[in-house]
Amino acid sequence: MDSSMIGKIQKAKQYAAEPERINFESFKVTLRGEHDTHVISYDHDTGWQCDCHYFSVRGLCSHTMALERLLGVMVERAQAKQAEEA
Ligand SMILES: [Zn+2]
Repeated sequence: MDSSMIGKIQKAKQYAAEPERINFESFKVTLRGEHDTHVISYDHDTGWQCDCHYFSVRGLCSHTMALERLLGVMVERAQAKQAEEA
């Protein structure tokens, strides 16, 4: 392997160990839940979306929270909606 490639691999290891360097702009994924497969999307400017009912009521859900756990500092937190009193 040539020395320039060795340098790139070293740099890749460093960057992978420093996830705060990475900020997701947007993505769309599916998550296979226990009952249904859900579509979750993220945009740095407009936030999270999930097609499940819980998300539509609360503004976050187990699906968005699972992705937050995986992606850590690379994404913004979903903002919980205030529960509306009847
Ligand atoms: Zn959800």
